[in-house]
Amino acid sequence: MGKHLVMVGGGHAHMTVMVNLRDYIERGHRVTLIGPSAYHYYSGMGPGLLGGTYRPQDVRFHIKKMAEDRGAVFVQDTVARIELDKKILILASGGEIAYDVVSCNTGSTVPADEGAVAGDNIFTVKPIENLIKVRQIIQAGLGSRTPKLIVVGGGAAALELTGNLWRLVRQTGTEAAITVLGGRNFLASMPQKAQLYARKSLAARNIDIIAGAHVNRLTDSRAVMEDGAEFPFDLALLAWGIQPSRLFRESGLPTGADGGLLVNDYLQSVAYPEIFGGGDCINFEKKPLDKVGVYAVRQNPVLFHNLRAALEDRSLQAFQPQDVYLLIYNLGNHTGIFFRGNWVLKGRLIFYLKDYIDRKFMRKFQVSGETAEAAA
Ligand SMILES: Cc1cc2nc3c(=O)[nH]c(=O)nc-3n(C[C@H](O)[C@H](O)[C@H](O)COP(=O)(O)OP(=O)(O)OC[C@H]3O[C@@H](n4cnc5c(N)ncnc54)[C@H](O)[C@@H]3O)c2cc1C
Repeated sequence: MGKHLVMVGGGHAHMTVMVNLRDYIERGHRVTLIGPSAYHYYSGMGPGLLGGTYRPQDVRFHIKKMAEDRGAVFVQDTVARIELDKKILILASGGEIAYDVVSCNTGSTVPADEGAVAGDNIFTVKPIENLIKVRQIIQAGLGSRTPKLIVVGGGAAALELTGNLWRLVRQTGTEAAITVLGGRNFLASMPQKAQLYARKSLAARNIDIIAGAHVNRLTDSRAVMEDGAEFPFDLALLAWGIQPSRLFRESGLPTGADGGLLVNDYLQSVAYPEIFGGGDCINFEKKPLDKVGVYAVRQNPVLFHNLRAALEDRSLQAFQPQDVYLLIYNLGNHTGIFFRGNWVLKGRLIFYLKDYIDRKFMRKFQVSGETAEAAA
């Protein structure tokens, strides 16, 4: 007899399952996909969305249509809690959905609790939809002659956002002072050569880089650093780290130190064999994985296999994460930085390589006519 598979979040790790939903349904199973929006945005193209290289419809998947076209049910909601013993998902709206097997791909959020962040001119980089809002606000004008725009964060997301903020301002034909508050050690996770190139690229565009101290909190007009220094701003973008969704801790599931769902080699909860997960929301027991889309994407075929196997009591496949992976960053001036381990390349061709890879990924999974539909 068929069983009920529930997918929580239609993120990057669920793409293969979503494209192949008919495979589950033809075997007699029911599938439900739960997500807060009919769309899922590809974060790798988020900075390019901010900078106007891409339109919203270029970088999103119509996950509601993907599910419904293939015979699954889409529920627009978020899961607030899992009742583990009853195998029931409690929705934010108050509804309940029972499952036989559940797969979580709920991603991560940028911490921004009320004690640390106050102001409706402050936007976290996730959800990616925020970048559409920021683009609209800057295009409409911020009121002051040379608005102060800050990006808070010391990693690759902050770098890409800063470069693309520059691109956006240039398109508006106005002036703005752009500063990245890069934490104690800006871009420390990158090879030295990549750091130097990135800094040089920003500096050549008159973007200020402030590093050496963390930002502790933001009022609606000032970023307050741990050393007491303050930076005024008109608009702030936050990319100062991420945390997995709180769903797992709040449900009493075993989690890693970061609160991510603790999973074994099979991407399966270490305590509840009917619960699986992939992407930023998991903590891989064998070794914590970087929170990069590369892993979410690589987990696709394993989740596709294992969810079907769990529904049908068959054997599971192990996920084997690679140690070294390729990353390419979009610097906003149609140049990019590529690195794999300590191997670094940079320049315009690198940007076009990223553009090619990203568009290919979109074409592979944008199967429900999103671009055509939006253009119609
Ligand atoms: C600006 C930026 C650029 C990046 N560039 C790169 C890059 O070039 N290469 C790279 O490898 N990585 C990159 N990353 C990291 C990469 O984006 C993440 O690792 C990736 O998004 C993880 O995918 P995910 O599917 O786990 O999570 P997400 O993309 O966050 O997706 C999770 C989904 O779950 C939904 N959801 C959340 N909570 C619930 C709930 N309770 N109930 C139901 N649904 C829920 C969300 O709405 C969302 O659709 C970048 C990140 C950022 C922010």
